[in-house]
Amino acid sequence: MIKLLTSWLESANSAETLFPLNNLPYGVFSVGDGDLRCGVAIGDRIIDATGLEAAGLLRADPQADVLDAPYWNDFMGLGPKVWSAYRTALTGMLAESADAAAQDAVTTFSVPMAEAVLHLPFRVSEYTDFYAGKHHATNVGTMFRGAKNALPENWLSIPIGYNGRASSVVVSGTPVRRPWGQIKGADGELPVFAPSQRLDLELELGAIVGQPSSGPVTVAEAEAMIFGYVLLNDWSARDIQAWEYQPLGPFQSKATATTISPWIVSKAALEPFRAPTPPRERPLLPYLAEATSGLYDIELSVALAPSGMRESAIAHTNFREMYYSAAQQLAHHTTSGCPMNVGDLLGSGTISGRAPDSRGSLLELSWGGKEPVKLDTGETRTFLEDGDTLILRGHARGNGYRIGFGDCSGTVLPALEDPYAR
Ligand code: CA
Repeated sequence: MIKLLTSWLESANSAETLFPLNNLPYGVFSVGDGDLRCGVAIGDRIIDATGLEAAGLLRADPQADVLDAPYWNDFMGLGPKVWSAYRTALTGMLAESADAAAQDAVTTFSVPMAEAVLHLPFRVSEYTDFYAGKHHATNVGTMFRGAKNALPENWLSIPIGYNGRASSVVVSGTPVRRPWGQIKGADGELPVFAPSQRLDLELELGAIVGQPSSGPVTVAEAEAMIFGYVLLNDWSARDIQAWEYQPLGPFQSKATATTISPWIVSKAALEPFRAPTPPRERPLLPYLAEATSGLYDIELSVALAPSGMRESAIAHTNFREMYYSAAQQLAHHTTSGCPMNVGDLLGSGTISGRAPDSRGSLLELSWGGKEPVKLDTGETRTFLEDGDTLILRGHARGNGYRIGFGDCSGTVLPALEDPYAR
């Protein structure tokens, strides 16, 4: 396992920081009334990558100002060789061995993270969400259809997904309004239109497509197209979902909001933490064969803080638990010829482990609302209540360092008055 790369910036060398020199995640920030700028996190500071580019001190493209924008899409579009060269150059400027000129440049073009506001790190082109966690699919299937029909027949062969809405993706810290929707009525009665009473989270990782495709690609080609990963919370209204999901899958139940972490952790930073997908219970078709280990050893946790109270951990799991990798999902996505674009976001599917406290949704943690989850404050939860703040965290753990994403959080706001009462 790679050791901590030490920096002349002391805060980057702590074993507890999420942003050592080994990480260098990409985000977008602003300070005060200033413009949105591309930034890279290091220790307790953000490097102003837009500023470094404009000053000619660190450029991704000698011809174009690709970072003169409030998103990393144009940079991603330059491709893996540029991603790698930029990372190498920035690592050199931050390493303990960096010369005085490099240290001066970084000192001039950086701000304390505590003074910055973080924004969506990239322009989400399109958003697709998958269902690749076998423990999650089994748990949910058992609740919705019974243990015998838990896993649909296709599940062990197809990375199941649905097309979500890019417009609903928000950055960590954005409040989430409890949605209204159509909910199944009592037996023989009409459905009702009401605020969701079963608002839930889904703990996921999002893969970001950094290169386009125009036809079917292999898993190895898909792997090369992925730029990096974010934490992702696919907020889900379970009562709306249960009524609408057959036969075309979730729709309004997952269209309210999807929250992502403010930092994109690059594939390069996660490279030492690769983990294999599990043994296949049924052989996959050849086009889904993996050339490399497609998962990562990333420790994940969910915390819930009721309004005005301290947070309680409610789940711990690991991205290694998934059945399909992002590269397999992306390859499958292209089989129809569906073009993929720079900035496409692919949700992994809920990440649940085998153990009851490793489940990545309240639906599973409370087993459909039947077994309330106990919080450290003495409160209990089946589903989310107004004022609850939900925080997803994740990091890969190296020898004396961590690679983190920053918190992926959101607070539930009460439903509006009946939106149709006018
Ligand atoms: Ca999901």
